[in-house]
Amino acid sequence: MASFITKMVPIFKCLICRKDIERSTKTYWSKKGHLLCSTCLDNIDKKNSSNKDISKETKA
Ligand SMILES: [Zn+2]
Repeated sequence: MASFITKMVPIFKCLICRKDIERSTKTYWSKKGHLLCSTCLDNIDKKNSSNKDISKETKA
């Protein structure tokens, strides 16, 4: 009867777009509760790489 509980995947909400995302509780704690969906993570990656490009350009 209790076996279904261990199979449950916790649902968290993306901090940016509030989309429901499935992550393990382990991931949740390793990110200190700051969970983002893959779409928002991609956007942040793009922002970070473009920021690096800009700082390089302004320095040079
Ligand atoms: Zn998101």
